[in-house]
Amino acid sequence: MDNAPGKKMLESAQALIRKTAEKMKLDEEMIKRVIEPEFAHEFSLTVTMDNGKKKVFRGWRIQHNSALGPYKGGIRFHPETVREEVQALATLMSIKCAVAGLPYGGGKGGITVDPKKLSKTELERLSRAFAARITHVIGEDVDVPAPDVNTTPEIMSWMIDEYQKIKGYKSPATFTGKPVSIGGSLGRTEATGRGGLFVLQALLEKIKGSMPKFSSLTIAVQGFGNVGYYFAKLAHEAGFKVVAISDSRGGVYDKDGLDPVAVLAYKKKKGVVSGYSSKKITNEELLTLPVDILVPAALENVVSEKNAAKVKAKVILEMANGPLTEEAYLFLSKKGVVIIPDVLANSGGVTVSYLEWVQGKAGYWWSESEVNQKLKEMIVRAFESIWEKSVTKKMPLKQAAFEVAIERITSAMV
Ligand code: GLU
Repeated sequence: MDNAPGKKMLESAQALIRKTAEKMKLDEEMIKRVIEPEFAHEFSLTVTMDNGKKKVFRGWRIQHNSALGPYKGGIRFHPETVREEVQALATLMSIKCAVAGLPYGGGKGGITVDPKKLSKTELERLSRAFAARITHVIGEDVDVPAPDVNTTPEIMSWMIDEYQKIKGYKSPATFTGKPVSIGGSLGRTEATGRGGLFVLQALLEKIKGSMPKFSSLTIAVQGFGNVGYYFAKLAHEAGFKVVAISDSRGGVYDKDGLDPVAVLAYKKKKGVVSGYSSKKITNEELLTLPVDILVPAALENVVSEKNAAKVKAKVILEMANGPLTEEAYLFLSKKGVVIIPDVLANSGGVTVSYLEWVQGKAGYWWSESEVNQKLKEMIVRAFESIWEKSVTKKMPLKQAAFEVAIERITSAMV
């Protein structure tokens, strides 16, 4: 397994924390406490496959920092997942939860697996095996997992079922992103996309002098999973022109705009989005289209030193975790591109996970519009504090976000 991309992502996250902390004049031991994970659980999982043979998988739950509260973060199933990537993502969760103003630290889980190659029963056994492995190190006030790349509410339902069976009691707040029927929150599925749209609208309000009118702004969305789809759908409904959409196998481009709901219906029938319109594009081409706003909503490191010079967007909304490498980020921010960092842009997911957790603990449920309203208030408040820091300190939003987060985390460390 090539661990170079994961390593790169981890090094970038750690370097940014170090740079920010040094500027804040934190001492070396404090910097180490913010960088090093508190626990790194690594394990193997043995699953009986449908053919009766046993197969071994590698898995992790990395608990990065708990100064602000229980560890919080998703679980990803991906063939390229490695320890370093999970650690980088756990580190970003600590920053993200602090940016979002949530009473959580950061954690992340993962399994090296291509879930598309598993049958549904194999996927269920693997999910249950993972939950059994982490049962003794999680809990509603310890560590609260959630979905991430390739994991769904249904997978959360298998995991919490396994967890509760082992524990012998109900604990709905131990996992978030669950189906509504077993204590999930209304609005959680759409939350990451919806939160991204709220942040984008709040930013455009601030920079409207230098941008065309909302309704004529064009958007390209890379990634058509839960995050990319709902972002595209809600942006389209809000009047933006979504001109390009792609999934892992390629994309479509229509300069007059696409209807994401129709593109999803096509993908459900044909298995891919490309072919929906006559203009097929590759994922690589999508990133460099002449659009106002680029939304990478799939995986990390997709914009790198190889293609950054060709990016034409004026605003980049990082809906994936870590879609820009450090080199690409430095190059594009120097060029004047406004980059809304992942730790803010996609924090709507974990914000509604928090609302789900509060509801689960209280046994009291809000309506979808109450959830959406609370999400809006919380994420706009998070945006405002980052924006203010970035303006007063004349620094890009990403640096401002890291500074706000590290201030909050270190002030809670005794
Ligand atoms: N996996 C999502 C993220 O990266 C959500 C995490 C959560 O809800 O805990 O932010």
